[in-house]
Amino acid sequence: MSKTCIALDVGGTNIRAAIIDAQGKILQQHSYTAQLSQITGNQQEVEQQVIEHISANIEVLLGQGENIQHVGIGFPGFFDNQQGHLIASPNMPVIHNFDLSGQLSKKMNLTVSAQNDALCAAMGEFHYGVGQSSQSLMHITLGTGVGAGLVIQGQAYGGDRGMAMEFGHLRMAKTGDYCGCGNIACLETFASATAVLRRFNDHSQTSVRTAQEVYQLAKEGDALAKLILSEAGNYLGSAIAEASKLLDIKHISISGGLCGAWDMIYPYLRQSMEAALIPPMRNNIIVQQSSLGDDAGLLGAAALVNR
Ligand SMILES: [Zn+2]
Repeated sequence: MSKTCIALDVGGTNIRAAIIDAQGKILQQHSYTAQLSQITGNQQEVEQQVIEHISANIEVLLGQGENIQHVGIGFPGFFDNQQGHLIASPNMPVIHNFDLSGQLSKKMNLTVSAQNDALCAAMGEFHYGVGQSSQSLMHITLGTGVGAGLVIQGQAYGGDRGMAMEFGHLRMAKTGDYCGCGNIACLETFASATAVLRRFNDHSQTSVRTAQEVYQLAKEGDALAKLILSEAGNYLGSAIAEASKLLDIKHISISGGLCGAWDMIYPYLRQSMEAALIPPMRNNIIVQQSSLGDDAGLLGAAALVNR
């Protein structure tokens, strides 16, 4: 049965919380600054503080909604497919096998579901955004890093240990910049908003503060800015082609800060993707910008409850 619920999208620096109805309409929402990655202490203390932060945000909305019983949460980390425990969270390394939804359920006497944030964004886009008429959807986020989630024939797919679709860590070249994962030349070292900014500043005489400024320079004809954005597009296109050959997904949506440079990236993405595909797949894959943008994660968290 579909229900009005509270949905949370927990990020590295803020928590977004909303009341969302059964049709995916956001009725009320709030955003809170919360540096969860800065919480210190042992495992139990960190987990306790995460529960406190999240439950405080739920309480605020509970005071405004009528008879809400269900909460869906998108959280950065790997969720075990069997028990739904948070096995690990890259920004909070002491967390291990954390029963986030179980503890919140008990504390608040509500039904709570939690899942990986990138997978939630894919579910949001699949159920309420551009993927509504598709069988399957791969959703990519180009922000601080490169994240991805997969809905395959209607089902969210996270893998056995929640580690599927680490798309941003596909290795794209033999040499390149170091990635936060410890490897080199991962996709996100070329195609995240952070990477575009860093690569421009590393190779330019001048320095800029945002990827958006790199885009502006490219529009004005700056050769380095154009090159860096074209490389982001080329690597993204190659990675999408390889993923398509594995999964036979014909619909891909993209959101995140770097979509602001879509017209400078997309032609290269399309060209490199088509070149790397097998012939029957060519000219037969939709790659488009997300229609939900930053709301995809919130709506996906609601879909945990409603679908
Ligand atoms: Zn990596």
